[in-house]
Amino acid sequence: MSPPGGPKGEYRRAQPEGIPVNPLVQVQDLAKVFDVSAPWLNRVLERKPRQVVHAVDGVSFSIGRGRTLALVGESGCGKSTVARLLVGLYAPTRGQVLFDGQDTLALEAAPARLRALRRRMQMIFQDPYASLNPRWKVLDIVAEPLREHGLAAGAAEQRARVEALLQAVGLAAADVHKFPHQFSGGQRQRISIARALATQPEFLVCDEPTSALDVSVQAQVLNIMKDLQREQGLTYLFISHNLAVVRHVSDEVGVMYLGRLVELAPKTTLFGRPRHPYTRMLLDAIPDIHMSGSARTPVQGEVPNPLNPPSGCAFHPRCPHANARCSAERPALLATGGVLVACHAVEEGRLPG
Ligand code: SF4
Repeated sequence: MSPPGGPKGEYRRAQPEGIPVNPLVQVQDLAKVFDVSAPWLNRVLERKPRQVVHAVDGVSFSIGRGRTLALVGESGCGKSTVARLLVGLYAPTRGQVLFDGQDTLALEAAPARLRALRRRMQMIFQDPYASLNPRWKVLDIVAEPLREHGLAAGAAEQRARVEALLQAVGLAAADVHKFPHQFSGGQRQRISIARALATQPEFLVCDEPTSALDVSVQAQVLNIMKDLQREQGLTYLFISHNLAVVRHVSDEVGVMYLGRLVELAPKTTLFGRPRHPYTRMLLDAIPDIHMSGSARTPVQGEVPNPLNPPSGCAFHPRCPHANARCSAERPALLATGGVLVACHAVEEGRLPG
């Protein structure tokens, strides 16, 4: 179907226009399917079919060097699965991850080269309580990647490097002797960041790094991450469900819904003129800290069961602009005005604003 109301000819297939010049990370048609079937014997006895979840389905994006791409969406949209696919914690079902032009999957056959490449990308997890070994001192925790990759010659050099890393994240050199339980939540996340920086990575995947912290502490940790990015030229993939946090840290924003990207745009464009109805719904739910008088509208409806996703556009049961085409035909991610959007109503020009 051609766009009846919209500016014809403005729409194009996604890629390659959205790719930054000389990107550090390129993700192409990434997909991950999890088999969540009951054990074989149960399936046979209870006559149950095999069940799979398409956690990530055909996601493509690029991240320029020194830039931050944030992926946002409600719980279960697949953003954390994308994060884990990028750092190799999951093997993709389909697709390609290029890091500095190298295909990370093709390097599986060359372990030494893959290991060298993995050293250049690290991950910061959501829960600083769970990601630090409670029985280890901070010195051992932060020095572990140094030992693992043979990056410090002896104990003295290890200690000097750890002390410098702790100071870089706003902790004291003397903290090397403490255990994780002696720190606050924000300080523990700083230890996680120091450990992630130990291998001098270029790319950090940050999976909800501040969502387990008090609001008052979140800004401190985010500011440290931004300072480190400026000083060390780091590139971030930032996963969050919190659009206020995303607005603070990102350069580009990808909005995910049920495993797929529905909008990908520069931050100022996305917050200034959101196109996709789901993005609009998420933005309408942000508390109005500027006291402009605009009403906050809670997010409507619930994410559908990923085992039985809706036909066509997966957002159609919750979308105020859905029509018959929406429930029958899945919208493709199309480029319009420097933004990528997957929505029939946007394509047809029947959305206001
Ligand atoms: Fe709504 Fe249809 Fe656009 Fe999906 S394709 S977001 S249902 S208007």
